[in-house]
Amino acid sequence: MLVHLSELIKDAKKKNYALGAFNIENLETTIGVVRAAVKMKSPVILQVSETSIQYAGLKAITSIVQAIAAVEAGDIPVSLHLDHGKSFRSVAECVRAGFSSIMMDASDMPFTENIILTKQAVDFAHRKGVFAQGELGIVKGLEEVSPEERKKMMTNAEEAEEFVSKAGVDTLAVAVGNVHGIIKMQKGNPGLDLKRLESIHKIIPDTPLVLHGASGMSGQQIKDGIKYGITIINTDTELRLAFTQTLRHTLENNPDIYDPREVMTPSIEAIQKVTEEKMEFLGSAGMVK
Ligand SMILES: [Zn+2]
Repeated sequence: MLVHLSELIKDAKKKNYALGAFNIENLETTIGVVRAAVKMKSPVILQVSETSIQYAGLKAITSIVQAIAAVEAGDIPVSLHLDHGKSFRSVAECVRAGFSSIMMDASDMPFTENIILTKQAVDFAHRKGVFAQGELGIVKGLEEVSPEERKKMMTNAEEAEEFVSKAGVDTLAVAVGNVHGIIKMQKGNPGLDLKRLESIHKIIPDTPLVLHGASGMSGQQIKDGIKYGITIINTDTELRLAFTQTLRHTLENNPDIYDPREVMTPSIEAIQKVTEEKMEFLGSAGMVK
């Protein structure tokens, strides 16, 4: 069933586990993630990016999530979130479409502009009872910046406190060594600056922190992150890889099949498997009684 993100966060905080936020872009990926949640008895966040909305259409993807949450998920709580909203317009569209949480990502703007743009989106979301995530610090791909540059882009604890109080966000995406993209899957995820994360959590202990770019991170790193306030962990790249690698394998090994359902089913199962493993990692498995 579709529920407000606030309910999921409340339970995660109370029981000390992290929620997985999984990027979906079509019927197949949505089914794969939700089946994992049902099997693992885990709450789950489904999130869509602006490019996925361009790909599938906002109405279509929202309807897919609503239908699957109602029919396949049963009692398992599912929440719908906008990942990396870059404009007030896309935030407003998702709020109107029925999302219970949005992200306004103005993290590439200077500090003051980030606060102003985020607050504008937060105020709109809050008027409609919707949660809002902001981002402070910049999360880049491994190939985009050097380790020294990455360090300069990390979230600063004092600024985080000011950002949260002025912009009014409900959750905060932090840059603490986490990286976006596919390259880290080949070269290794560089890992978290736990000291920095601890200092951020200390100064804003009531703000759930969100970790982007967590694909390929070790179980221990994730456990440490949860200890220091990480409440939501995003996974996108690993799902994409599982889907397309399986698809390639299916087609190469079965040159005669032509039924899209036969072509897609193994990829749906691959999405489900990766999601199940993540839910074990995060400790959200078994949390729905
Ligand atoms: Zn992200």
